[in-house]
Order: sequence, then structure tokens, then C-alpha cells
Amino acid sequence: MSFQNTPDFARQLDAQDPLRAFRDRFHLPLAPDGREAVYCCGNSLGLQPRAARAAVEAEFQSWQEHAVEGHFREPSCWMHYHETLTEASARLVGARPVEVVVMNNLTVNLHLLLISFYRPEGRRYKVLMEGGAFPSDQYALESQVKLHGYQPDDTIVELVPRPGEHTLRTQDIEARIQALGEELALVILGGVNYYTGQAFDLAAITRAGHAVGATVGFDLAHAAGNLALQLHDWDVDFACWCTYKYLNSGPGGTSGVFVHERFAERPDLPRLAGWWGHDASVRFQMQKGFRPMPGAAGWQLSNAQIFPMAIHRAALALVDEAGGMAALRRKSEQLTGYLEFVLQQAGLPAEVLEIITPADPAQRGCQLSLLVHRQGRQLFEFLAERGIMADWREPNVIRLAPVPLYNSFEDVWRIGQGVAAWSAELAAAPANQ
Ligand SMILES: *Cc1c(COP(=O)(O)O)cnc(C)c1O
Repeated sequence: MSFQNTPDFARQLDAQDPLRAFRDRFHLPLAPDGREAVYCCGNSLGLQPRAARAAVEAEFQSWQEHAVEGHFREPSCWMHYHETLTEASARLVGARPVEVVVMNNLTVNLHLLLISFYRPEGRRYKVLMEGGAFPSDQYALESQVKLHGYQPDDTIVELVPRPGEHTLRTQDIEARIQALGEELALVILGGVNYYTGQAFDLAAITRAGHAVGATVGFDLAHAAGNLALQLHDWDVDFACWCTYKYLNSGPGGTSGVFVHERFAERPDLPRLAGWWGHDASVRFQMQKGFRPMPGAAGWQLSNAQIFPMAIHRAALALVDEAGGMAALRRKSEQLTGYLEFVLQQAGLPAEVLEIITPADPAQRGCQLSLLVHRQGRQLFEFLAERGIMADWREPNVIRLAPVPLYNSFEDVWRIGQGVAAWSAELAAAPANQ
């Protein structure tokens, strides 16, 4: 579609947007001038759904009125609370219900899955991951490798872009997997790289990993709620994601886990066990001998965290109400495409501002990462003063993530205006560069 850099055009796109009403279902923060801010940090912490407070309030009420009986009382029924998230989570990531469970937090889940799916043996012990992966993932892998008695430097192989490029080419990832061959135990990548915004071809990477006999897992922190995923069909072995970024489920919120159906009936897989993963039909017989439930549910440790899950349930309902990931993704491609367009129109030369996120919509989600070669921090602060809430990553990247549930095309137009105003200031005072 051809875009125009005018407020009328942006408002026209908003008027035609079938998801426009969802913005009112969230609390938007205010800018310094009292107007609604342009919130572009949904990749870091999604906004609060208006329904979240009542959802938590209902559980407070249950606790107040019924105390321990709340575990069994409708409508709360805390005993089975996590199960009420299963169907929506499965739809979200393209999975069968037996393949998903919601529990714990992201890095905890990554560790639990690595215990089962990183099983180095003999010559096959290496791990392939992104260079500059999110630090928590780096630390998790480093510690898991040490747990098995290996040296991280020798064991963890990092993918880096070709010289002069910012993102990875699928063919290079595949070639690296092939070259590692039977030394490769595990491929673990982010679904979308948190820094560059690059979305990886999860199906192709999974195929390549399986072809050499490796296990393939993904950290979907920046992909869940952002991309239309088909984890089951892509044959991914395992995955996990947080719920507080694109899934709007509150700071530190709970996390989702995917384990492919082919492992559903594998009680022999090594794992760390807890009572909530034990066969639910006999859980309360409190007997010795762990017997995991089939599927992802068999990786649970503890009884459900009701409060974060209450928020997550309300937030997931919004995704379904909007028509699921296909509908969100349709708007998202347009919204991010429009952001790319207004940034290109803002008049900053490539020596100052470079968009390092791939231009191909299939290789990105909501986020665009702006590499600002000069005065990046000043640009970030200039935008903040104008009510544009972006995210700053050292040493010189501004991340902007307009999200389809609550961002508007007018928001995106305002970002373009902010960057254009900065560009005009730079042009007026070139000596300061
Ligand atoms: C956000 C994010 C995390 C955060 O982990 P928590 O355990 O939720 O604190 C980890 N990994 C990636 C890739 C992330 O984007």
C-alpha cells in the first residue's frame, strides 16, 4: 500500500482499522503535556488492560470470602485455574492444548526445559545461539553448560551477522547448523531478536537442526503476541515466552511453555519435578514416586500463581476477541510499515539514522530498531519530551514497537513528526554534531 505522511491520512487509516476500538480497552500513560503518550514500549512492558484490575479483584474477593475453599469454589476454582489458560495459549502459538502450559517466569521455564532438552552426550554437546542474545538467555545457557561439566567458550557457538550487516541470514544459520553436524546438541534462538527486531525463520531453522539430529528450542519473549506462530506444524521441540511484553499481562507476569506433542508421553525424559506436574488424578494421595502428567503440564512444579494468571487470562481474552494473531498481525504489518515510511520521510541522512530491523515484513514483527550514529541519546530524550515513549538500548539503539492492540496510525505519524523536528534542529545547528 502507498502511504502519505499527513495527519489526515493517518486518521483515515485509523478510521478503517477494524481493531481501533481495542485502544480504549487499555490504560494509556500520559505525556508531559497531559495528552496521551505515544507508547512504543509494548515490546518491553505491554499496557494495562482495563479488565485486569477487576480480574484480580475477583480473586481477592474469593480469597476474602472463601479462603482455602477458593481452591474448589466456582468461579475461581484455583485448583484448576492454570487449565483455563491452556486453550487460549495453544491458539496463541499454534499448538495443541496438550503442548502448552502457563507457569512460573520465563528464565525459570527456560532452565526447566533445558534440563530436559539439553542432553549433551559424547561428541554431541554444542549449543548454537545468537551472538548478543538477551543476557538472561546467555546466563541460562552458560550455567546449564557448566552444570554438565563443559566449558561455555568451547561449547556455546554464537551466530554473528556478516561483516557490514546487522542481522542474520537464514542460509548462514542453516550452513552453521550443517557444519556443526553431529557435534550439535541444541539450537536455541529468540523467535525475534530483542535488539535488532529480526524475526527468524523458525520452521527452516527447526528443519535444519533436526536434519543433523539436534534439538531445537526458541525463546519467544519477543515473538509471542507479536507474530502468528505455528509451533506444532513447524515441529519445534520446545519454547517458552513471557507474558508481560506483547501479551500485556503485567510486570513480572507469568510465562508460557510449549513442549511438542511427541514428548507428551515421555515420562522417561529427565526433568525437575514438583507436585503440580504429577498425575492430577492421584496428586492428593501424596505418595512417593513422581508420575508426570502427559504433555507440557508434566513440567509444572508449583500450584498456580492466581494473581498474575488472572491478569493473563483477561489479557489473552483480548487477543481472542480481536480475532487472534492473524488479525493482529494484519494490522501490525501495516502499522510497522507506516512507521518505516514516516521515519524515511523524516529527513535524517543514513549516516545519522539507520533502521537495522529487516525491511522484509516476514523478517520482523512490530519493532523497528533505529541505530543512531550521532546523538542517539539526545534524540531519545527529545522524543520523550514530546510524549513519545521509546526504549533506549546501549550503546546507540532506539527501539520503537507500535503494537496493533492499542497503537494507532496517528501515534505513528506523531513519531515521524518528532524525528522530523529533531532532523530540522540538527540541520539548523550542524556545528553541534
Ligand atoms: C524479556 C526477556 C527475558 C526476561 O526474562 P524474565 O525471566 O522474564 O525476567 C528473557 N529472555 C528474553 C529473550 C527476553 O526478551
